[in-house]
Amino acid sequence: MSKRPMSEIGPMLECDVPPVMPVLPLMSTVVFPLGVTSIQVRLPQSKALLKDYSSPDDLIALVYSPAKREQDLRPEELAHVGLAARVIRILNMPGGNIQVTLEGLRRVGIEEILHSTPYLEARVSCPIESPADSARVSVLVPRILQSLRTISQLDTSYPPELDNIFSMNLGDPGLFADTVGSIVRFPVETKQRVIETLDVAMRLEFLAEALDAEVARLSVAEDVTRRATAQVEKSQREFFLRQQLQEIRRQLGEDDPQEILVRQILERAEALPLPSEVLTVIHEETSRLRYLSPTSQEAGVVRNYIDWLLSLPWMRSVPPTIDLDAVARSLDEEHFGLEKVKERILEYLAVLKLKNDLKGPILCLAGPPGTGKTSLGASIARALGRPFIRMSVGGVRDEAEIRGHRRTYIGSRPGKIIRSLRDCQSKNPIFMIDEIDKMGHDSQGDPAAALLEVLDAEQNAHFVDHYIEIPFDLSGTLFITTANVLDFIPEPLVDRLEVIQIPGYMEEEKLEIAKRHLVPRESREHGLLPADLAFDDAAITKVIREYTREAGVRQLERNIDTFCRKAARQRTGGYAGAWHFTEADVENALGPPLVLPERAEGQAEIGVATGLAWTATGGDLLLIEALKMRGSGRVIVTGQLGDVMKESVQAAHSYVRARAEMLGLDPNDFDNFDMHIHFPEGAVPKDGPSAGIPIVMAIASALAEAPIRNDVAMTGEVTLRGKVLAVGGLREKVMGAYRAGIRTVVYPSDNVKDLTEVPDTIRAKLTFTPVSQVDEVFQHAFVGVAELIEQRRAEEAVREARRKKRAAARRREKRKAERARARRNGARRNGERRKREERLRKAARGKR
Ligand code: ADP
Repeated sequence: MSKRPMSEIGPMLECDVPPVMPVLPLMSTVVFPLGVTSIQVRLPQSKALLKDYSSPDDLIALVYSPAKREQDLRPEELAHVGLAARVIRILNMPGGNIQVTLEGLRRVGIEEILHSTPYLEARVSCPIESPADSARVSVLVPRILQSLRTISQLDTSYPPELDNIFSMNLGDPGLFADTVGSIVRFPVETKQRVIETLDVAMRLEFLAEALDAEVARLSVAEDVTRRATAQVEKSQREFFLRQQLQEIRRQLGEDDPQEILVRQILERAEALPLPSEVLTVIHEETSRLRYLSPTSQEAGVVRNYIDWLLSLPWMRSVPPTIDLDAVARSLDEEHFGLEKVKERILEYLAVLKLKNDLKGPILCLAGPPGTGKTSLGASIARALGRPFIRMSVGGVRDEAEIRGHRRTYIGSRPGKIIRSLRDCQSKNPIFMIDEIDKMGHDSQGDPAAALLEVLDAEQNAHFVDHYIEIPFDLSGTLFITTANVLDFIPEPLVDRLEVIQIPGYMEEEKLEIAKRHLVPRESREHGLLPADLAFDDAAITKVIREYTREAGVRQLERNIDTFCRKAARQRTGGYAGAWHFTEADVENALGPPLVLPERAEGQAEIGVATGLAWTATGGDLLLIEALKMRGSGRVIVTGQLGDVMKESVQAAHSYVRARAEMLGLDPNDFDNFDMHIHFPEGAVPKDGPSAGIPIVMAIASALAEAPIRNDVAMTGEVTLRGKVLAVGGLREKVMGAYRAGIRTVVYPSDNVKDLTEVPDTIRAKLTFTPVSQVDEVFQHAFVGVAELIEQRRAEEAVREARRKKRAAARRREKRKAERARARRNGARRNGERRKREERLRKAARGKR
């Protein structure tokens, strides 16, 4: 389609525009009457339009579209009021775009879009602008002029006398409003509203409001800029003033306190053995400090950081020689027993000594609390003449506790590793990291990963704390870790550890430890002489048995401590003699016993089975109570059990039900009685499948009303078919059983190999009964049922023998009958044969 000839368009409308006009959509700008605007045209339709309408006589309707992108442009969304405009100039731009300069003439109403190809054309009308009454004009115009004045003051990019420019054009209020709308940088939507508002009074009102909003916006922006500038100006001012002050002080021969501080820092740094990179950072930080106000927060942060850098033992270490004899002596002097442990520690150190570096696995002492792990570490450190650091990572969930917080953090400081090294003032201490099995992790990062980096000899020569930011060499530090239970150590860490297991102590060993080490040491620590205090063996044994329940000797140590405190009190009260405590004194000093007498001394009970638990404090007894009561066959379980243990109870109940006949139980009992199974010490959470055997025994005992032996402890997982499966922690469980006075341990046959880990002395004193089927346990666990089961077995054997005898007799009878029948059949066949032969003979004789 090409431009329509004038004849086709028909007469002009009253406002001198043709009734049908080509439409040039505008998206980011609005053109006002008498305004001249240049726009870039990219849309192919618009380019086609400009090809046809390019002479100064051609009129085009410029219409605003709310679309944000060209492809979203919809003819039906075009504004209803546009502007008739004249093309002044067309410029072809590189890239095929066209720049067109247009002069706005007057408003046109867009009545109907006729078509959109090759470009938009619309039927247009001449809108009538209602004039404003002079009263309103006289109120609104001064308000607008006032706003314009304010705007030109707030935003210097406007001409300074904006209001003056406009006040010259007040003759036509409508045109005045249009001119303001075109010059002030309103959003395009606001400008379009000015075009669309045909009522001049309303147009002025709308403008006045839009200007108020613009003034408010500019005031906020100005305020923000002013504040920011003021801040910068303040620090610049401070900087210049400080320089002047410095100069004044210099001329007066006085010193600047900040300068004195910086000088002191630098002097300290020069005097210390520091790596060059640390020195460089200190120089950088002190130069920053010079220009900061001494009272500012930032200066505080910088000073703190420099303090840390200066206080770390960057190059301070003790001679790293390893004297194995000294270590052996120290370990022996300070620790009773633990022969294998001491041996393995010495072997480990011997390898380090030969290799002459610390690369390799990290020592991990694993065992219940109070078994001397920390104390062994301290002995090694003393023997090697190195400082000893102990750091617990138990409960640490945040990586920053190990590696520190970045300095941008308010209140940040280095992590535990760096803090400990600062405290010990040596870069090659013996560093014990406790409770690595109790580390947690959460969204704050994984502390185990940070620890791994610390322990890894390949990486730890360049350990970077987030706060310090300069690598610290940890390669000379000898790390020793400790754990209670190996199972909970994060997997990647376990691979790096050389584990030395420390089993719990037996009663005899505890007695010796107390006599040789705890009593003399505690006496000294309480200001008494070791000779002042003596204990009977019976007294210490009573303390061990009735006041402690532990694999180690920590509670024992605390109890001895109580005796010492009482003695110290008497000494200060004037008593000059020595003390000799006997069994009778124990209750006086410590109060009534805390731990019940050992189980083995109690009675065999119905429905109570003794299981074995493996806890962080070593092994312990786990009692299981079962009670039957009239009901409907429900199984009730209490005692804070985990899911696995609850399932063990269900499986055990089903198993006993399946074996009812063998156990002489009435099968109806399972439907007529409820069974309540309780695990005492209900506040302690328990889980795991290893209580399978004792649960079966407790249920069977309650139903059969037969007492279970209480000197037998049992452990083993039980399958639904009664097979016994292996369990974990047998060594700890056996030690716990022994401590509690148990003499027989029933355990899974699959665990036989683990018995070698149990100390020989204990193995010699206990009876171990391996089982592979839970049926085998009944005879060991029950007092009366063993005989019952034996009797049932014997009866069963007799019945079986009788069954076999009867079957054999029947077989004999059958064979006899068969033989008789065979004989009868044979005789009949013989008779018939004889008769046939007789007949043949007779016939032969007749022929002859
Ligand atoms: P852990 O670190 O394993 O929890 P500690 O090393 O703190 O245990 O030991 C607790 C107390 O028991 C310490 O005073 C320690 O000296 C003492 N102790 C433990 N085992 C022995 C031992 N075999 N000989 C001498 N004292 C011991």
